[in-house]
Amino acid sequence: MYLNENSILRSITVDNFRRAIPMWFRSQKRKFLKAPMWTNYDLTYKCNLRCEHCYFHKAVEEKRIQGKPLNDLTNAQWIKIFKYHRSIGIHSATFTGGEPTLRMNLLFEAKKIFDNIQIITNGLIKIPEFPGKQPVIWTSLDGGSETHNAIRRAEIFDRVIENVQDDKRIYLICTVSSSNYDEIGEVAKIAHDANTGGLFYNFYTGYPKDPLLLKGKSLQKTIKELTKAMADYGDYILLSKKMIETYIKKSHVKDCFFKNGEVQSFFPNGRRKFCVMGNTPALCANCGCVVPIVAHCLKKFDPETIEKFKKIPF
Ligand code: SF4
Ligand code: SF4
Repeated sequence: MYLNENSILRSITVDNFRRAIPMWFRSQKRKFLKAPMWTNYDLTYKCNLRCEHCYFHKAVEEKRIQGKPLNDLTNAQWIKIFKYHRSIGIHSATFTGGEPTLRMNLLFEAKKIFDNIQIITNGLIKIPEFPGKQPVIWTSLDGGSETHNAIRRAEIFDRVIENVQDDKRIYLICTVSSSNYDEIGEVAKIAHDANTGGLFYNFYTGYPKDPLLLKGKSLQKTIKELTKAMADYGDYILLSKKMIETYIKKSHVKDCFFKNGEVQSFFPNGRRKFCVMGNTPALCANCGCVVPIVAHCLKKFDPETIEKFKKIPF
């Protein structure tokens, strides 16, 4: 049973109520203007890596096949879009790529427009302090040194760890696939020692016959190792039992806010993209994206998920 009276009652606190009032007014404005809840921009087609599991390059290849132009928008063109989205009530934006830190100046401009920004990065470029409220930064960490470098196809592990060390704005994110599921505990230790804000686990998303997908024994071991990491590192691990269950049952797919347009994604040329994971609903059947998984669990008032995620300044 997902939703029960206890879980609802535990989530009704003065703090949550205070946070909910401005959110409710914003949602009414957005509904009136038919605007999404938040936006996700792939800022550039460029990347300083070529990783084994890259969703972005797969989506770009699909787009190339369709013969669409692959030019990044200029700073001025993006800023115009950001300002328009802000004017219709969007306060939060996520920046992906390619590698968004290759357009650092544009990230600083975006921060002047949106109240909250999130940057999803491979960690090769250190992100400086922003004026005022800091961005939430998600940095990839896929295994111990050898595995991370193999998945990322470059010797970058030491540099990434140096760039994230003691930075509480940073939440490390490990995409678990058949390449690294036996290093879940090692990743938790490395991340915890690096003293970042926390650690997420994403589940690999792919087409049905993709060998990187978790299935059978690799899936069983993943669940066991994740459960152990949660017990060993407590609230540092941004994962709940309900999130694991949601991923297994794929309960998040039906009400995914990318799919229903409540969150809108854009390619670097400014065209709409189906979702952050790619440009086709064919990925939904094997979706392990942590974002709709968390959203689903919060919608169901899962107390453990609420507790773990309330500290993140989204
Ligand atoms: S860093 Fe990200 S965008 Fe670049 S190749 Fe790797 S997964 Fe793709
Ligand atoms: S692939 Fe995942 S994130 Fe994308 S629309 Fe489907 S369920 Fe949502």
